[in-house]
Amino acid sequence: MNTIDKFNSHVTHSYSRYPLVMEKGSGRRCKDENGKEYIDLGSGVGTNSLGYCDEKWADAVCAQVRTLQHNSNYYYTAVQAEFAEKLCETAGYKSLFFCNSGAEANECAIKTARKYSFDKYGKGRHNIITLVNSFHGRTMATLSATGQDVFHNYFFPFLEGFINVTANDIDDLKAKLDDTVCAVMIEYIQGEGGVNALDKKFVDAIYDLCAEKDVLVIADEVQTGVGRTGKFLAGEHFGKKADITTLAKGIAGGIPMGACLFGEKCSEVLTPGTHGSTFGGNPIACAGGLAVLERVTSDGFLDEVTEKAEYIRKKLEDCSEIESISGIGLMIGITLKTKKASDVVKKALENGLLILTAKEKVRLLPPLTIDMDEIDKGIEILKQILEE
Ligand SMILES: *Cc1c(COP(=O)(O)O)cnc(C)c1O
Repeated sequence: MNTIDKFNSHVTHSYSRYPLVMEKGSGRRCKDENGKEYIDLGSGVGTNSLGYCDEKWADAVCAQVRTLQHNSNYYYTAVQAEFAEKLCETAGYKSLFFCNSGAEANECAIKTARKYSFDKYGKGRHNIITLVNSFHGRTMATLSATGQDVFHNYFFPFLEGFINVTANDIDDLKAKLDDTVCAVMIEYIQGEGGVNALDKKFVDAIYDLCAEKDVLVIADEVQTGVGRTGKFLAGEHFGKKADITTLAKGIAGGIPMGACLFGEKCSEVLTPGTHGSTFGGNPIACAGGLAVLERVTSDGFLDEVTEKAEYIRKKLEDCSEIESISGIGLMIGITLKTKKASDVVKKALENGLLILTAKEKVRLLPPLTIDMDEIDKGIEILKQILEE
């Protein structure tokens, strides 16, 4: 049996996949089983932040595999301590909880926000405001938090206690932010929702109102964090630091890892027995994360991300099929005039280019390490498809 048949006979069909078997990658390119090469402007949905099999990252991960691959959270490990320290320092947070994915990081944020409020104010202040068109994950709580009706099917009953506000509608926010609310949860740039950055004014209003009422701000930076937008956290573009920030995707360069970061208010909310994860903070994932952090915080790295992002955006400017370009940094949404994004993605595959969609848009999330030559080649392929 070939790979695709074998796969489809045994893996449940919860994804619609392209008929393509990826075999290996190096730098910002990967090859399928037939040896066909692809330039990657999707980086495994923003996860391979350093591209494929980056040498230093791979060395760090392999060394950890050969030293201590896992123990449990009943003990301490140096690599976890080191990663936690560096991540808190870099992001400007007091403490964190390690988990294995974006949804888990958001689960942790939701639990922490509710406990913060319960500890301080007692019952009845459990609601969390999330935004229409948001995406926070696939677990029951994070699906319930997700502000898109398409996700609210089949699995009833969903979790109570989430209230949706229309993004950028300050009046809607004011009307719903009552004394039953313990937190407002946002993506500064809605990723899955279509690469839409929030208005600065709306973000300001959230922080002002929340500060007045001791309501926590949770920033879901699972997609926007760890350098994606040219800043370590996207909140920096808005001059804001959330009480809780969640990270995953690119944080460990392609190894499952998530983190929920706590500022002053929440750093001691989770007490022994209130939360846990068998794999959370796994040493291999932490070693990968350290290698990513070392690179992303190295001199000039984030400035280069910004330069590359501007270069890509400039190159796309004169394309007649493009209506508009959204997002910040290397999180790029492209609205097309006549073509369907999904058709463009398929055409790109045929032409050796990996890209993504987000709703009706074409979405680019290149590895942060992409170089100008690869950008030239990749964007050339994309433009040819768009203009033919
Ligand atoms: C991808 C994503 C998630 C879910 O992350 P998983 O690792 O798939 O659980 C949550 N929030 C945002 C903003 C995301 O982009």
